[in-house]
Amino acid sequence: MRKKIVAGNWKMHTTPEEGLVLARQIMDTAHANEHREVIFFPPFVHLPTIQQEVSVSPLFSVGAQNCSDQEKGAFTGEVAAFMLRAIDVSWVMIGHSERRQYYQETHAILKRKVDQAIAHQLLVMFCCGETLQQRQEGNFREVIRKQLHESLFHLDAEQINQVAIAYEPVWAIGTGQTATPDQAQEVHAFIRELLQQKYGDSVASAIRILYGGSVKADNAQELFRKPDIDGGLVGGASLHASDFVSIIHAAE
Ligand code: PEP
Repeated sequence: MRKKIVAGNWKMHTTPEEGLVLARQIMDTAHANEHREVIFFPPFVHLPTIQQEVSVSPLFSVGAQNCSDQEKGAFTGEVAAFMLRAIDVSWVMIGHSERRQYYQETHAILKRKVDQAIAHQLLVMFCCGETLQQRQEGNFREVIRKQLHESLFHLDAEQINQVAIAYEPVWAIGTGQTATPDQAQEVHAFIRELLQQKYGDSVASAIRILYGGSVKADNAQELFRKPDIDGGLVGGASLHASDFVSIIHAAE
């Protein structure tokens, strides 16, 4: 049975002090359960503090929202994968639609980021998903197939085990418009089929595929009950401790 993941993407919110308070509130009230794990994705400057906080917990871990596509060197403003590894960060998020849209991160750039993360033993939360226009035009399958094939599917079967995939339809992120459980399940099953074609049954059935896009306390349970939805990547609701804890408890 796949262990569910509930991940909080804090985006560019909270001071380090506020972030620590938030993490502590969540950690104090969320119940541990062998069927789930929780990841905080805070801003970079919070990482050492939050990492220290979660280090004693079997339920919680921490991830960065981004990493450089370069190993090291004269790349002002960038943070390298080896630096994240050096402070015991477990995960890195790659390919979030806000990075694709606002920072022009192409398939090729994302592929290099994936390689950096894997080379430095980071677990990858790889995001994919179609825009509203792409969905309306009916070619969302092709969009997702390309995102996976161009940036992720060069990994071998052992490396892909270091990856979880987050399906995040762009039209559902921060809009309050969640994909219905059936809509999400359809795409998750499609992603698992792509994994199966490329890597075979055992890899495909082990990889966690999370849904992201306006997951809230009142819709999480219905989404997480679908057979191919292995938890959620949560933006807005992850900044409110009680809402996020309810979402964690919905992952059974
Ligand atoms: C996200 O940014 O990954 C996200 C899913 O945001 P929200 O939950 O706010 O839609």
